[in-house]
Amino acid sequence: MARYTGPACRLCRREGEKLFLKGDKCKSTKCALNRRSKSPLPGQHGAAKKQLREYGMQLREKQKAKRYYGVPEKQFKKYFVAADKKAGVTGDNLLALLERRLDNVVYSMGLASSRKEARQLVTHGHFTVNGKKATIPSIIVRQGDVIALKEKSKESPKFKELMEAMQDVTIPQWLSVDKENAKATVIALPTRADVEFPFEEHLIVELYSK
Ligand code: SF4
Repeated sequence: MARYTGPACRLCRREGEKLFLKGDKCKSTKCALNRRSKSPLPGQHGAAKKQLREYGMQLREKQKAKRYYGVPEKQFKKYFVAADKKAGVTGDNLLALLERRLDNVVYSMGLASSRKEARQLVTHGHFTVNGKKATIPSIIVRQGDVIALKEKSKESPKFKELMEAMQDVTIPQWLSVDKENAKATVIALPTRADVEFPFEEHLIVELYSK
């Protein structure tokens, strides 16, 4: 299925939770969820939230994770298959894989205001992985990898601004970030504890295990 290109806030309203898809707006009072206190569901009249049955809950949790990380269905399923083959808890493995996507790393470094923006910046060739240009947002980083903003990109006004903003960003423990040089090293692989969003990943596992 093609990537969703409609309004991002609609996705949050559908899930009834902030998925942080629009950068700074998400933290401001302009967030659509802050403004709609009664029913978060989209629709002209804000349809009443239905009692979700088991399948519905599993489906919603999967959609939430897909939207949070900005991953299309087919690719998301591939992550699940890979997570299921690994030793350990499948749900934890799945989230850890999603965290390791290059676009998520760029976002976590503070060099993009949203994962969507991070995807665009990677696609436009602003980053290197281990010194080589990397333009595929879905690259899964490994322990020891070094992700860096290209020297030439540091000169652009946009990145000068982002590099200033990144100084205040809290970096996840599995990354070591040299903020002065806009460079991150993967010092450990992420675990479930590194995922900030309160996913109920067991529901996703149940959905795909039917
Ligand atoms: Fe979601 Fe951000 Fe829109 Fe709020 S502003 S509804 S968190 S995308």
